[in-house]
Amino acid sequence: MRLLVVEDEPRMAGLLKRGLEEEGHSVDVVGTGPEGVWMGTENPYSAIVLDVMLPGFDGFEVARRLRAAGRWAPILLLTARTEVADRVEGLDAGADDYLAKPFSFVELSARIRALVRRGQPERPVVLSVGDLRLDPASRRAWRGEDELDLSAKEFALLELFMRHPGELLTRSAILDQVWDYAYDGVSNVVDQYVAYLRRKIDRPYGRSDLKTVRGAGYRLHDPGSA
Ligand code: CA
Repeated sequence: MRLLVVEDEPRMAGLLKRGLEEEGHSVDVVGTGPEGVWMGTENPYSAIVLDVMLPGFDGFEVARRLRAAGRWAPILLLTARTEVADRVEGLDAGADDYLAKPFSFVELSARIRALVRRGQPERPVVLSVGDLRLDPASRRAWRGEDELDLSAKEFALLELFMRHPGELLTRSAILDQVWDYAYDGVSNVVDQYVAYLRRKIDRPYGRSDLKTVRGAGYRLHDPGSA
């Protein structure tokens, strides 16, 4: 198999290259995010071993850019961090599995074989509600043919609404899922961001799909359920 290793620590990169070559694979090694994207885009690898912490930009971004470019080689993410949020971000970015450092080479090798057996991952579903579309993997969103220019929080908020079309979302549910902190009964951050989002997805198109449910929260109009 032809494998790509994206790892900036020379000792770890050397160990991986030597170990994988001893198993009969052909191994390319690069040490930065941009080089990882370049190599992964230009070459048909059977699998990619991708460190999270990299110079340039991190492994999450490498995975995102490869998927956005339509490159679907299975990705095994190496993370020094074990927080659930990191794992979720990695999988959302388009990685297929992760391995926390420190790991044994035997474990790494078994994970790579399992990923390659499983084959190329399915392209993740692009969410659509009416003529709104959102691609969680490449972090892009559109109204009709227009690509929307959203901040990270606006994107997360729109994604939440699009995963629950036509449903009432309370301010506390939105705070909990998008801001990851508990509702204190005072904060109007949700209202502010809903207003920002309306200015980008509704107002320029003469629409009002993001509805206020008085005294309760917000709801994204779902034309499919009307
Ligand atoms: Ca690193």
